[in-house]
Amino acid sequence: MNTFDKNHLWHPYTSMQNPLPVYEIEDAHGVYIHLKDGRRLIDGMSSWWAAIHGYNHPDLNAAAKDQLDKVAHVMFGGLTHKPAITLGKKLVSLTPSSLDYVYFSDSGSVSVEVAIKMAVQFWQNTGKPSKNRLLTIRGGYHGDTFAAMSVCDPVTGMHNLFKGVVSEQYFAPKPLTRFDEPLAIEDKNSLEAILKKHHKNIAAMILEPIVQGAGGMWFYSSEYLSVARKLCDEYDVLLIADEIATGFGRTGKLFACEHADITPDILCVGKALTGGYVSLAATLTNERVMSGISLNGGVLMHGPTFMANPLACAIASANLELLINNKWQNCVSKIEKQLQAELSVYINLPAVADVRVLGAIGVVETKSVVDVAILQKCFVDSGVWIRPFGKLVYLMPPYIIQAEELNRLTSALGKGLEALNNS
Ligand code: PMP
Repeated sequence: MNTFDKNHLWHPYTSMQNPLPVYEIEDAHGVYIHLKDGRRLIDGMSSWWAAIHGYNHPDLNAAAKDQLDKVAHVMFGGLTHKPAITLGKKLVSLTPSSLDYVYFSDSGSVSVEVAIKMAVQFWQNTGKPSKNRLLTIRGGYHGDTFAAMSVCDPVTGMHNLFKGVVSEQYFAPKPLTRFDEPLAIEDKNSLEAILKKHHKNIAAMILEPIVQGAGGMWFYSSEYLSVARKLCDEYDVLLIADEIATGFGRTGKLFACEHADITPDILCVGKALTGGYVSLAATLTNERVMSGISLNGGVLMHGPTFMANPLACAIASANLELLINNKWQNCVSKIEKQLQAELSVYINLPAVADVRVLGAIGVVETKSVVDVAILQKCFVDSGVWIRPFGKLVYLMPPYIIQAEELNRLTSALGKGLEALNNS
C-alpha cells in the first residue's frame, strides 16, 4: 500500500487512522483495471455505475483531446459554448419528452441540490411557500451533500450522525413489491396516507425510479412508480426522478422511468453521463417548473464555478453518441440474461438471502454483513474488481464486457460467497 496515500489521502467513508486497504492502479483499458503490482482485474463495478464503455475509450479520448486544444474551461456566467449546446440538445432529445430545460452542474449530489432548489423556488414563486419539505421513500440514496442527505434513508443514511443539522423530511416505507410483481396495496396506501396528510407542506417527492442503488440495491415494482406519479399529480406535488445511477441504459431502458412510462417534473442525471471520464451532472425540468421559477423575474439561485465545463460536456456528447451507436440495448439485454443464468444458482448457498437481476445489474444479498476487506482481497486474488458493501455483493459491469469476462466475474463472486460460508 502506498505510504503517502495511507498517511494523507482520505478515501470514501473510511477512517484516516484505520483505513481499509486500497489497491494502487497503473492504468485501465476496456474492462481491465491494471494494478501497479502487475495484476489485471476485470471490472465489475464500472467505477460506481459510470464507466459504461470501459476505460480509455478511443472516441472519448479523442473528444477530450480535441476539446482540450480549444478550451478546457470557461465560466458559464455570460458565456456559452458549443459543447454545452450540443450536449443540451442531446439530453433534451433523449430524456422523456417535456423535460426541455437543462441545468448543468458538477456532480450527482449537486444536481440533486439543484432539483430540490427548483422545487422549493417553484412553490415560493407561485404563491405556496408552505410547500417546502420533501417526501421520499426509505431505502433511498441521493448523495452526500446536506439537502441530498436529508432524503437518503434515515437509518442507513447519515441522519443520526447529523441529527439537528440535516433537515427533517417525510419518509414513505420502502416499497416491498418486487420489480416484476403487481403492486401490493399496502405500498400504495402508505404513500397515499402521507400525501393526503402533508401535501400542503410537500414541495416534491424524490425517488430513484425502479432501482434503489447505494441505499440497498433494491428493485421495486414499476406499478409503484406509476402510482407515485398519479398521486403526486392528485396532491399537486412535484416528482423528482433521481436517475443518476439508473440513467443511460443500466436498467434495460434508457431511463428507468420508462419502465412505468412516466415523466417526472424534474430529472437528475450524472455518473454515466460522461462515460465515467469526468464529473458532470444535469438537472432537467419542464415548462411548468421553469416558468413558475421565472415568474415575475424570478431566477434559479445556483451557479457553480465549473458549471457546463466544456471538457466534460464534449466528452459527455461523445459518450452519448457511442451509447446510441453501440446498440446498448443488445449489450444490456445479453448481460441481463447471463447474470440471471449465472447468479441465480447462488440462492442455494447458505450465506445468501436473495439474488436479483435487472438490466446490467446483478445483486446477491447475503444474510449477514460481509467483511469488505477479506472479500475484496479474495476478489482481487481471483482477478476481478467487485466492491461489496453491507450485505450486498453486486455487479454492474461496463456494457462492453464479453460473455467470457462476465463469466469470470460471476464465478469469482460465487467463489467469494463460498468462502463466506466457510469462514
Ligand atoms: N443519486 C444517486 C441515485 C446516486 O447513486 C448517487 C451516487 N452514488 C448520487 C445521487 C450522488 O452522486 P455523486 O456521488 O456524483 O455526488
